[in-house]
Amino acid sequence: MTTNEAIKNRAWNFSAGPSVLPVDILQKVAENLLNYDGCGESVLEMSHRSKVFKKIMADAEADLREIMQIPDNYSVLFLQGGATLQFSMVPINLLTNTKKADYIVAGTWGKKAAKEAQKFGDIRVVASSEEDGFTYIPKVTKEDIREDVDYVHITYNNTVFGTHYNEMPDFGDKLLVADMSSCILSEQVDVSKFGLIYAGAQKNIAPAGATLVIIRNDLLGKAPEGTPIYLDYKIHADADSAYNTPPCFPIYVAGEVFKRIKREGGIDAVAKDNIEKAELLYKCIDESELFYCPVAKEDRSLMNVVFVTGNPEIDKKFIAEAREEKLHNLAGHKISGGMRASIYNAMPLEGVKALVEFMKKFEKANK
Ligand SMILES: *Cc1c(COP(=O)(O)O)cnc(C)c1O
Repeated sequence: MTTNEAIKNRAWNFSAGPSVLPVDILQKVAENLLNYDGCGESVLEMSHRSKVFKKIMADAEADLREIMQIPDNYSVLFLQGGATLQFSMVPINLLTNTKKADYIVAGTWGKKAAKEAQKFGDIRVVASSEEDGFTYIPKVTKEDIREDVDYVHITYNNTVFGTHYNEMPDFGDKLLVADMSSCILSEQVDVSKFGLIYAGAQKNIAPAGATLVIIRNDLLGKAPEGTPIYLDYKIHADADSAYNTPPCFPIYVAGEVFKRIKREGGIDAVAKDNIEKAELLYKCIDESELFYCPVAKEDRSLMNVVFVTGNPEIDKKFIAEAREEKLHNLAGHKISGGMRASIYNAMPLEGVKALVEFMKKFEKANK
């Protein structure tokens, strides 16, 4: 297949993760794959201690700091182990005083995070929307949080159930930790409101293999004696994320994604496009007599749009027929069923339009 044919024959990929990457970046990476920027080596082969790679990593961090407006008193770490390892690293490093933390559970990932944290301290689930199928974000105020917790944990966007904090929660002076795996870079957040933000790369940043951690510097260096060396944030912060071999290739692609966001006018410009895409899709669902969105309106995610027909057989038919139209990976998570269209930053408006058109066609044929 020629490059042009390959591009022309690409499907619209609505996968929740690993997920779509911008075509221009895939192309640029392909062009540089054999010989990065004329240096004679591929990033796939390059030493993480080389001058070329150190620049790739330093530029990636600088660009991320610029687009997310990360304050100087925060460290940016590129780690491995996915968001899942953060479910352990967060309590290990942050349960430093009373060893109490409160978790707000609005989906599967938050539930897993809380369960893992229980190995390390006194973890309380303050609120959970599980009994209602995780269709909303539990409303928690600062009065609900225990006075002496070391931190509060939230999942900012619930990938599986399609909910999102559309309003920044206020827990007073409590240290706030957020899993932003599926919404990082989709909207501007005020980093200074968080003690720690983490995100696996494979949703909205880069291919799988890297995990981004943004941590306030005063939280570093508090891991207990005996903590495995890789699990101590300070080790990575002191070594500029190169204590050991970092996930070089995903970091390189991440850097290209950050540069692209800069070129496009920053996160606010990206967010504007995301709103346009999501509104188009939700409008189609809300106007439909076949599809509906089970999620509370005020908590809808701009990244993961969940919808169902109410009939699992029709859902299945929809997913299969959509695939024939090159609309891929629309099945909901195995827990929730139905459909889910993940429309991350890299999904063009054109892809959402194609989906909406197909949904209308399908509805007509299946009324
Ligand atoms: C995908 C996802 C995870 C799990 O990420 P891994 O990198 O596979 O460990 C955790 N939290 C959220 C919100 C996710 O979307």
